[in-house]
Amino acid sequence: MSRRKTRNVTGISRIEGIPYHDAWISYICVNCKELNLINIGQELLQPSEAFENSIWECTSCGFRHCKGSDLPFENWPKAFIDSDSITSVRFWQAFFRIATEHKESYWKQCNCCGRVLSFSAFSKHSDWGPLERQMECRGCKGAINAELNPKRTKQQLYESSIRRRAAELLLEGENETIIIEDLFKRFKGKCFKTKKDLEINDRQSWASDHILPSKYLYPLTIQNTALLSKEANESKRDKWPNEFYTNNELIELAKITGANLELLSSKMPIINTNIDVDACVTRLLMVREQSNLNKRLSELKKLLISYNLVDALSNENKKLLGF
Ligand SMILES: [Zn+2]
Ligand SMILES: [Zn+2]
Repeated sequence: MSRRKTRNVTGISRIEGIPYHDAWISYICVNCKELNLINIGQELLQPSEAFENSIWECTSCGFRHCKGSDLPFENWPKAFIDSDSITSVRFWQAFFRIATEHKESYWKQCNCCGRVLSFSAFSKHSDWGPLERQMECRGCKGAINAELNPKRTKQQLYESSIRRRAAELLLEGENETIIIEDLFKRFKGKCFKTKKDLEINDRQSWASDHILPSKYLYPLTIQNTALLSKEANESKRDKWPNEFYTNNELIELAKITGANLELLSSKMPIINTNIDVDACVTRLLMVREQSNLNKRLSELKKLLISYNLVDALSNENKKLLGF
């Protein structure tokens, strides 16, 4: 199988010349207890071969690890440390087996941070070298993914998408249809944040932004929509307006949209409790596929608790949801 080309789009550079598919042996010196690492290339060792043929010399103290060496354990009886003894033979057999038996026994070098790390520090990648592991360690991979994945970890993306989906469930039916031509007219065809001219037909270059985020239960209404360039919208995301706009921008925004300036300028996000939660429960019960109903109900339940909206439910719906 051909190797996937790695393009460096992250600004996190790779170290040239690192044999990142190679396997490394690691062992702790039995004499001085220092860690030793040996690059063995792309062919893994058989434990029995390693026992028969290998001589691994400690880079710190020079002790030779091989079946012909006496064990350097001074507190063991002399008869047990002699290289001809059965105890010594068994020790060396196990010593070489530990270092070579499984793929998991080996180490490899990350071509990002340059460290030689144990097998488990790398994620799986089929067909890459004898260990079938990725070329960067999980630490570096995490950094690369964070850079590729606009500033957020997978887990954060997952959580925020669940939360948004659940919030959308509450907001469904409260949203208004936004007429794009009117939106462009209101904002004079410019990104409200960057003042860049936007092209209405270039759908990829602009976004209608939720000024007060759906995360805090504000529906998408004409009053709650701003015209932003794609880039500005990317950095706005779920931010509360006061976190994203300057005071002057907030004043202007309130003027354009008719939104409540005091609310926009609030230092802390304010959850919209002015929402018909009973209508939401009704919508939820009307959804066609009943298979996920229990899951959706429990999602809604969590959401109502986290938004402190339980008391807004009718008694009947409280009972239904098990409050
Ligand atoms: Zn040593
Ligand atoms: Zn690394």
